[in-house]
Amino acid sequence: MEKHFLATPGPTQVPEKSLHRQAEPIIHHRSPAYTELLISVIEGLKYVYQTKNDVLLFTSSGTGAMESAVANLFSEGDRVLVASTGNFGERWAKISSAFNLDVHLLDYGWGGEVNPEDIREKLNGDGEIKGVLMTHSETSTGVVNDVEAVAKITREREDVVLVMDAVSSLGACELKTDEWGVDVVVSGSQKALMAPPGLSCAAVSEKAWRFIDKSNLPKFYFDYKTYKKKLEGESPQNPYTPAICTVAALSESLKMIKKEGIENVWRRHKVVAKATREGVKAMNLSLFSPDRENSVVVTAVNAPEKVKASDIIKIMREEHGVWIAGGQGGLKGKIFRIGHCGYYSPSDIVMVISALERSLSKLGHAFEQGKGVERAEQVFLENSL
Ligand SMILES: *Cc1c(COP(=O)(O)O)cnc(C)c1O
Repeated sequence: MEKHFLATPGPTQVPEKSLHRQAEPIIHHRSPAYTELLISVIEGLKYVYQTKNDVLLFTSSGTGAMESAVANLFSEGDRVLVASTGNFGERWAKISSAFNLDVHLLDYGWGGEVNPEDIREKLNGDGEIKGVLMTHSETSTGVVNDVEAVAKITREREDVVLVMDAVSSLGACELKTDEWGVDVVVSGSQKALMAPPGLSCAAVSEKAWRFIDKSNLPKFYFDYKTYKKKLEGESPQNPYTPAICTVAALSESLKMIKKEGIENVWRRHKVVAKATREGVKAMNLSLFSPDRENSVVVTAVNAPEKVKASDIIKIMREEHGVWIAGGQGGLKGKIFRIGHCGYYSPSDIVMVISALERSLSKLGHAFEQGKGVERAEQVFLENSL
């Protein structure tokens, strides 16, 4: 039988309601019905972001929104500080270099965590730094960085913007855009927002708009001012044809998040992630990154010595219909990653852990069959959702 389940950190499972909504006849993007849809999506995103700032919606994957932030905020040769903890931190550095910015890299390595004090030190020692770019949830390693602590530092500096990649964290990790004071927060539709791929977004603070006014980097499709103007027009729209069906799907997913309540969504992610980590450890496996309560998006697991990560991934997929991800970059072949951001319930996790147990048994990994599921169940019994 062909039946598959995505336990990858993007794309993720999409609720049936959203899939149905996506399949409805296409409405025209210059119609009042689309305006109504767009307004509801922007309002829904503002709720998830916990912000009253402007939220702009683009048709692109998450990387497009990352690029948009660089192109809109900075000017030729501006110095930026990139705090990198893995693949997506490195992406900030690559994008900034592509726009000829003067990139100063604070490299914590894959699996490392940002130390906010380092950022304070760098900013105090170098008045030329115009922006701090970092990743909230580093999807390549499972690490979730302390955005609140970094924002506390940048908030006090009128001359520095904090730019956050929250592509996999928005709707999964606690994130209080306004209360913490994060200037630009970018995200994408296909992770914790529980929608199909194809949309990205940016929350933009007042301080960020002052940077945008001065920016001279080339941009056209992603020009924030064009999006803002269209949103503030008599009937809010996107400047160019949006991925209308995906916007429709996203609106349903955002309604579900609102209904569950963002605090409950954050808590559910914590519990589901804890059960995954505990289940994995009970299978005689070790976690790749530090074992933290806040590591709620993806669980990165070291492949056991005698078993290849690629074989685990293959058997999970081919024999159990469960898609997990491998390592990126230098971690390819060394780790595998179980995604649980977005539409995941305790029952999903028990199923994934069970499939992992059966895969590992087949591959001859030494562990006590059933222990992973038992431990995951225990976590769920101790933390009712
Ligand atoms: C998925 C992801 C992105 C963007 O990836 P796209 O494939 O462009 O959507 C960026 N940052 C993080 C942390 C991610 O997890």
